[in-house]
Amino acid sequence: MTAETILEIENIELTYKGSIQALRGLSLKVPKGQIVALLGSNGAGKSSTLKAVSNLLSLENGELTAGRIRFNGKDTAGLSPHALVRSGLFHVMEGRRIFEDLTVEENLVAATYALTGRGGAPADFEQVYDYFPRLKERRHNRAGYLSGGEQQMLAIGRALVARPSLILLDEPSLGLSPLLVEEIFTIIAHINRETGVSMLLVEQNAAVALAISQFGYIMENGRIQLDGPTERLMADDDVREFYLGQS
Ligand code: ATP
Repeated sequence: MTAETILEIENIELTYKGSIQALRGLSLKVPKGQIVALLGSNGAGKSSTLKAVSNLLSLENGELTAGRIRFNGKDTAGLSPHALVRSGLFHVMEGRRIFEDLTVEENLVAATYALTGRGGAPADFEQVYDYFPRLKERRHNRAGYLSGGEQQMLAIGRALVARPSLILLDEPSLGLSPLLVEEIFTIIAHINRETGVSMLLVEQNAAVALAISQFGYIMENGRIQLDGPTERLMADDDVREFYLGQS
């Protein structure tokens, strides 16, 4: 029996206006409750895949010319990014995208407003602070003064406020020291285990991503080159040489 699928991408093709074709018949699945890693070198099309899922392509003059995407069994074509957030799909963008002039807690409040409208649900951020005690310590500090790692924690915390069923995580390791990367990935795995939230994790750091994922896809030039359970990928000679830096 296969696990239920929360996200299914089927043969999508993407072209940016005036540019090359960025995705060329890409398919992948995220089973419910699992972490799936999407790996590949610079420019392979990983971020574009996530933007296709959260319907953010039109903001960048990108267009899907073929294929379809289903979230919880429903076709996402035509749904606004906001409607997708409300239905449980949250995209943590590359580069973190937090409000630097607001405090940590105000950033979390803003994430709540985005879901419920002003004056909506009471602010209960204890779950976020349980996972990220550092954010609790810094909750009255301006987000712009946080370290890169703390800003990444805040970006993930903003996703948790939305209580999503699927999180798209774009390069959480970007610009962080190895120690912080390990800390954040340990917390990501912990959140997945405790809440059951599914994750599609885009990473250039294949080793840390595979360490917390159950399944991985490796893409090059807009299509999947190789996929499999993480143990199989980690034992593959080409993966070890080209993506894990081992020989
Ligand atoms: P990176 O790790 O560098 O972000 P990536 O695997 O996420 O790489 P994408 O950012 O998805 O790759 O880019 C895939 C291709 O699409 C690249 O050739 C890139 O130049 C192109 N591309 C991405 N965004 C745009 C855009 N807004 N307009 C035009 N071309 C774009």
